Amino acid sequence: MMTVSEAWEIIRNNLFTPENEQVALLRAQGRILAQEMHADRDIPPYNRVSMDGIAIRYADYQSGIRTFPVSGIIGAGEDSKIHIPPGSCAEIMTGASMPSSADTVVPYEQIHIAGGAATLNTEVKPGQNIHQKGKDRRSGDVLMRAGRRIGPVETSIAASVGCHLIRVVKPPRVAIFSSGNELVDIDETPQSYQIRRSNSYVCHALLQSHGIDAGMFHLPDNPEEIRTALHGALGSYDLIIASGGISAGKFDYIPDILTDLGVQRLIQGVRQRPGKPFWFGKKDHATVFALPGNPVSTMACMVRYVKPWLDTSMGLPVSVQPVVLAEDITFEPNLTLFSQAVLHSDENGRLVATPLRHQGSGDYTSLLDARGFLELPAEKTRFEAGIPFSFWPV
Ligand code: AMP
Ligand code: MG
Repeated sequence: MMTVSEAWEIIRNNLFTPENEQVALLRAQGRILAQEMHADRDIPPYNRVSMDGIAIRYADYQSGIRTFPVSGIIGAGEDSKIHIPPGSCAEIMTGASMPSSADTVVPYEQIHIAGGAATLNTEVKPGQNIHQKGKDRRSGDVLMRAGRRIGPVETSIAASVGCHLIRVVKPPRVAIFSSGNELVDIDETPQSYQIRRSNSYVCHALLQSHGIDAGMFHLPDNPEEIRTALHGALGSYDLIIASGGISAGKFDYIPDILTDLGVQRLIQGVRQRPGKPFWFGKKDHATVFALPGNPVSTMACMVRYVKPWLDTSMGLPVSVQPVVLAEDITFEPNLTLFSQAVLHSDENGRLVATPLRHQGSGDYTSLLDARGFLELPAEKTRFEAGIPFSFWPV
């Protein structure tokens, strides 16, 4: 059976190559940028006044003038070809383009206006309160590269350079399958021997945070029905996530059916707890992750394998965090342990992970306390407090 890092190596070498599409900026939140974005003009595009006040020539101030006749008023949005005669000033507003006949702005708070003239009541520095044309970026500069998630900051930049249509990564088409005769959908009332199929919802939620709206389907423990459904899905989806039905039970048909359908099995079983029966394969454009059905196993495999596969495929960094262990732990089996853990910051601002005491792979309510999984490698049995490890947030 392979190790976690061997499994990840295989998954990383079998990424999805996404296409991209153009969407309206208003629809691009959370999507991944698939283009470079350039400054279409200098930023700022003109010498932009940054305070309401008066525009003067610094040379006049230097020559000792402190009272300036007001020769006009310039608002933002005016094409200010206005000439301010030497020795005088113009009132000017924030956002206005500074006329070339002046070079310095003194805010209203620092002047007194009476009888049509403004008198300064403070020191003035040359060029103050003007955001110089091109100071932030030059026309043609690259502002953003592909592979950034579009959030409010990216939206503001795109809007400011007039990018109303934006090229974004097209996510894979995803089908999520739950499997098992004991499972009912969440709007049904389970019998005493049934449970609700929560795993599908977990997978759906994790994908939704990637801007993916996956289809959800259910497979009963019936080989013919499983075969028909998976056959159809392999033809029409890029990513198939199945949970349940892959272990050593009498009714765990999924791996054999997948290989029968021509899916190349690349991983079957990983030295890890939970999630040992984890299965991964590929057929043409379709990638299949089949996860053990125990809710904690499903979640651990989602955050350790499926999400990183998606992130890497879409050009994003993998969301793993370095944390240090809060206490000593011993774990004897030769397996990587994905331990549910609670995070907090210590007095030095480091993230510290405290593993939860009780956690089986079916014990999903404990995830209410944990924020994710601490990965403790198989090669060691004793893990000491203060040593850094990877934490996979849910
Ligand atoms: P399996 O991997 O099919 O052997 O399932 C292992 C355990 O996980 C069983 O107790 C199942 O009832 C449970 N299980 C399987 N699929 C789901 C699901 N979608 N939601 C909640 N529990 C599940
Ligand atoms: Mg089952």
